[in-house]
Amino acid sequence: MSASRLILILRDQLDRSAALLNDADPENDRVIMTEAPYGQRRFPPHKSRLALCLAAMRHFRDDLRANGFSVHYEPAGDCATDVSSFLHKQIEEHAPDQVALTEPGNYALLQDLQAAADEAGVPLDVYPDTHFLCTKDDFDAWADGRKSPTMEYFYREQRRAYDVLLTEEDEPVGGDWNFDEENRESFGKDGPGLIPEPVRFSLTSITEEVFDLVDEHFPEAYGALDSFNWPVTPAQAEQALDDFIEHRLPSFGAYQDAMWTDRPTLYHSRLSAALNLRLLDPLDAVRRAESAYHDGHAPINAVEGFIRQILGWREFIRGIYWRHAADWSEMNALDAQADLPDFYWTADTEMTCMRQCLQQVVDEGHGHHIQRLMVTGLFGMLYGVDPQQMNDWHLAMYVDAWDWVSTPNMIGMSQYADGGIVGTKPYAASGKYINRMSNYCTHCRYDPDQATGDDACPFTTFYWAFLDENRDTLSDNYRMNFQMANLRRKDDDTLASIRERAEALRERMSTDGTDS
Ligand code: SF4
Repeated sequence: MSASRLILILRDQLDRSAALLNDADPENDRVIMTEAPYGQRRFPPHKSRLALCLAAMRHFRDDLRANGFSVHYEPAGDCATDVSSFLHKQIEEHAPDQVALTEPGNYALLQDLQAAADEAGVPLDVYPDTHFLCTKDDFDAWADGRKSPTMEYFYREQRRAYDVLLTEEDEPVGGDWNFDEENRESFGKDGPGLIPEPVRFSLTSITEEVFDLVDEHFPEAYGALDSFNWPVTPAQAEQALDDFIEHRLPSFGAYQDAMWTDRPTLYHSRLSAALNLRLLDPLDAVRRAESAYHDGHAPINAVEGFIRQILGWREFIRGIYWRHAADWSEMNALDAQADLPDFYWTADTEMTCMRQCLQQVVDEGHGHHIQRLMVTGLFGMLYGVDPQQMNDWHLAMYVDAWDWVSTPNMIGMSQYADGGIVGTKPYAASGKYINRMSNYCTHCRYDPDQATGDDACPFTTFYWAFLDENRDTLSDNYRMNFQMANLRRKDDDTLASIRERAEALRERMSTDGTDS
């Protein structure tokens, strides 16, 4: 059978309004989809991640068929080893004049698909990803010529381009572009109190079918499906957005950096998984939040903080990913070589903050941004985990992690392995930061104020050891002046004790994988 054009749709490209689909001809084009992975990964994926992707894909497939498209769909368990082998096989079978796809958010995959098409002698028509609000060309035009592109200035241009939170005079609503000063509250000793739990989605028959498939075909996958509660259709994603705007957005800003024991969601949105699968339109989410401000439902610091994550940070990080796309996989600016400790997979650790944050990941493949940056990510950097392993762990375990977003966030922002492309300094902090922003330390056997001794908090020990071990590199960074000056105040005996304690902890964590 021959088709004039094959349209390849990838697992994170479930955008009903993609330019590629608007341009497609259901009569003559043939859509092809596979549940095969993008390529070889160091670690098997989390069960929730698999179930979410496959359920969302199957719903999307059925929507396309209902709209008259002919869809060839290859299920897991009966599929090619990876997406490019699948494409190769489809080209051989259908001898198309052309293959079309939306640009993948994965540089290596794009290379592999191009190679498969080239080998078969079929042109590959790569459509721009119209899900994003800033095109790659526009981002490059903005970033070219800037010594160090920073998100804040990019974000202001995005606000102006989309007329978001602007006065009639084109100035920022509320008199400022950024209200972060108001967004660093902790809960105090009384805790967060009652916050409505996120909406629960009923399992569709497709989701149930996928659960069985995951159990049967991916026995090596991490995590569990017991608490699976992710939107798998645009309608469910819309429900998740409604729920966030109604119940959590008003306090999201003030408490966006706060953490609390056994409270995984607090005021966070949990929308990133749906956004990154293209089940939710980013501009729709931005407009809904903006309306909540204008309706008097949510304050400016909350609305602006949420909008900045989507209109600013998300678009910025994607632009930065593509500008360095070929280089990320080699980056290791601090020469960190340690293997990921086993507790990243099991949450089996006496460090309460890590146990809490990692258990959430094991349970449902998720953690909010401050848990990723200032607990699990911070620990990896201070301990000296190979940043590529950190990124591969993140890509395997989190339901919302895709190469374009995970890699610059993990290699750059979290691990500082890019040497300062994404952030201008490492996000290095001791256990005192975690103590200030959570109640984790009150339930921990360690003491966040101690860097040495049996009760010393591993974060605090590794914080000083990190500054000490990277003294030469970090001393050149003026933004580290304050922290490095504090390090220089430590006398030789104290530094020797910190090094000894750090070595002993690393020895334990690298041999039996625990800290006890
Ligand atoms: Fe985490 Fe240290 Fe606090 Fe324990 S004392 S919860 S290890 S920061």
